[in-house]
Amino acid sequence: MDLKQYITVVEDWPTEGIKFKDITTLMDNGPAFKSAIDEIVEYANTREIDIIVGPEARGFIIGCPVSYAMEVGFAPVRKEGKLPRETIKVDYGLEYGKDVLTIHKDAIKPGQRVLITDDLLATGGTIEATINLVEQLGGIVVGCAFLVELTYLDGREKLDGYDVLTLMQY
Ligand code: IMP
Repeated sequence: MDLKQYITVVEDWPTEGIKFKDITTLMDNGPAFKSAIDEIVEYANTREIDIIVGPEARGFIIGCPVSYAMEVGFAPVRKEGKLPRETIKVDYGLEYGKDVLTIHKDAIKPGQRVLITDDLLATGGTIEATINLVEQLGGIVVGCAFLVELTYLDGREKLDGYDVLTLMQY
């Protein structure tokens, strides 16, 4: 299926000059959303995944249906102050300023094979921080899967040495 036809490019949002890739018009189409998830499941099935990890909020939207289809668990990565038990954290740079991501300390066991999911790979900062959390816990990142890649932002350079699947490229 040509999935790109379901992505809406919103000009000048959230700020002037940005062409925002809106995935909600793919998500709200049942066959298109299923087809996208099926492609990621097919990729993940070749990689002996023990657990899926995704950053809030759109990493959940992609990761959870894949997790359900594969019958493996899903561990959320969240902004600081959102997870109720003991966490580890990582600081990461945003376009303007800094942010913190956290994961429960017992979410991943050492040696577990992890698939990371998110909706979109832009500069790669979010996924680099998520990989950092997984590796702090001894997890092995065996794949990263996204719906969309903005190739002009070179996010893949930060993911050198990791296996990356993107379903659509701009
Ligand atoms: P990165 O950390 O620069 O790779 O940015 C990726 C994060 O920003 C993802 O979690 C996306 O949800 C969000 N993001 C950045 N640009 C877009 C866009 O054009 N559409 C949807 N999400 C975006």
